[in-house]
Amino acid sequence: MTTGKTILILPLFLCLFCAARTEPDFVEGHGSLSVNGTQLVDSKNEPVVLAGMSFGWHNWWPQFWNSDVVRIMRDDWKCNILRAAMGIEHEDGFLEDPDSSVALVKGVVDACIENGIYVIIDWHDHNAHLHQDQAVAFFTDMARTYGDKPHVIYEIYNEPTVVDWKTVKAYSEAVISAIRAIDPDNLILVGSPHWSQDVHLVADDPITGFPNLMYTVHFYAGTHKTWLRERGDYALGKGIPLFITEFGACNADGNGPNNLDELSLWTDWMERNRLSWCSWSIADKQETCSVLKPKTCPTGPWTLEDLKESGLIARNLLHQWNK
Ligand code: MG
Repeated sequence: MTTGKTILILPLFLCLFCAARTEPDFVEGHGSLSVNGTQLVDSKNEPVVLAGMSFGWHNWWPQFWNSDVVRIMRDDWKCNILRAAMGIEHEDGFLEDPDSSVALVKGVVDACIENGIYVIIDWHDHNAHLHQDQAVAFFTDMARTYGDKPHVIYEIYNEPTVVDWKTVKAYSEAVISAIRAIDPDNLILVGSPHWSQDVHLVADDPITGFPNLMYTVHFYAGTHKTWLRERGDYALGKGIPLFITEFGACNADGNGPNNLDELSLWTDWMERNRLSWCSWSIADKQETCSVLKPKTCPTGPWTLEDLKESGLIARNLLHQWNK
């Protein structure tokens, strides 16, 4: 009697089929990113808002640059993006030790790909226009290695300081040209003078001729207030796409009290404009903005007791945004 066997076998087959299926991971669900007007969109041209954390400088907090932290950030903090802030200057930075630096970056990028979340490769430099040849060589390597991965985003100049937009623009065009010669489409993030706050200057003289560019805005709510949001509004009004790759609730020097009232104005503004963001930073430095208490185990597991106030703020925010 085949009918009886079919009744028994069919549910078994369906169960095995279901067990083999897994939910698509975040990047699998959204695919390649691009820019439509000022909006970040996914492969179906639907608006997408990314929210996650930035690692601290790799040369000072390398212990946290590992796949366990990537997993904690995805599963416990609900990050759908991480930012790999590769320090360029200072001791043990890229200029001093490029091989170890690239190895650490690739470890985190590979772990993000493995975990199905987006990842920003950040040239974490305050003087990148002085290191253009090195940046071109580095991003050429990254584009060759990762240009076909939808997960990867390039951030080519973390925070220019006191330098004019003309200089930052010329540097950016050189690096973007090098990336686009290999990778025609992955998102590229561009900084602006005065710690990536001068987006009003960008708005008056944007880079042209390349697809999928966005400009970064960095804010620290204790220091940066309405005037910086107004610059952002001006830029958005002129069609300049923005991405917040760093922020904190404290002062711009990473210390002082967290200003929750001002942070709330900022998060309302980001939500209204559907801006993507990363908060600064995964580190255990004795300062307000590092999210971990000193001597936190670098591979977890972490409880809420391991988090500083900044960590609790960022984690709560991520749970609200990435439900
Ligand atoms: Mg590509």
